[in-house]
Amino acid sequence: MNVTEVQWERLLPAEFRAAQSQFPVVYLPLGTVEWHGEHNALGLDALKAHQLCVLAAQQGGGIVHPPVYGGMGGLDMPATVVMEGEYEWDNHLLRPWLEKLCSEFMRQGFRAIIMLTGHYGHNQQITVREVGARMTERLQIPVLGTPEYWLAQDAGYLGDHAGIGETSLLMHLHPDLVAIERIRADPDYGKTDAIEKGSTAALGQRYTDVIVSRLATVSRAMLTWDEATRAAFVRAERALISAQVRGWRMDQPWAAWRKAFDGELTHYGKYLAAGQFEQIERMAAQCI
Ligand SMILES: [Zn+2]
Repeated sequence: MNVTEVQWERLLPAEFRAAQSQFPVVYLPLGTVEWHGEHNALGLDALKAHQLCVLAAQQGGGIVHPPVYGGMGGLDMPATVVMEGEYEWDNHLLRPWLEKLCSEFMRQGFRAIIMLTGHYGHNQQITVREVGARMTERLQIPVLGTPEYWLAQDAGYLGDHAGIGETSLLMHLHPDLVAIERIRADPDYGKTDAIEKGSTAALGQRYTDVIVSRLATVSRAMLTWDEATRAAFVRAERALISAQVRGWRMDQPWAAWRKAFDGELTHYGKYLAAGQFEQIERMAAQCI
């Protein structure tokens, strides 16, 4: 099988030069090591984000940086690294690290950056999107920072933790890293047979196809955005961040998300892929 090599660390310099000059987009997958039930590998978040980026780059072009493990939040469970608190405003580690990486990507000649986080800690989501908006303005190239599930909400994946969505994605992306029958020994995730019965590689493939094709579409578009389009993109991303932060200040942390996932407000991926940034702003306004 002749599969295009897109992983930065596996490319030889001539291959890197060719891939970059053809399509100067870089993907940065983010995740962490965290308990994902007895049935899933501990690195699920980063493994998932990385493989989705690889598939997107193979489909649409671009180069995939190795995943960054470690982020904000994480369960109080074994084999879980928590670098910073889930519900803290402080962020001293992830943000500067991501900002420095973005600057380096630009210095190395990339003209668009996509940070895809497979870990959905509350503040992780805010921080990653904030870094994207801020670095878009600072570097004057488009930088998108989003959890992968935001691109598949209208396909039915609203994000979970080791539930049907994530387990199905891992079943499709890394089938050898799921042992679904072991969930029966898990007092939390195996309490009912819902996850065991509901998780399938086919569902994971459905979510994957939506996410990958949107990433490929968005990356292609990002290379063509002019200054006005970048500004509209930043306004939309900031509106989402604002909704998330204000929801958190006024109510429990996930308040704005709950509304965002309600009915009509699940079209972020579609709007982003179509460059309909005013729609995203409108959507954000309805979240709070
Ligand atoms: Zn996860």
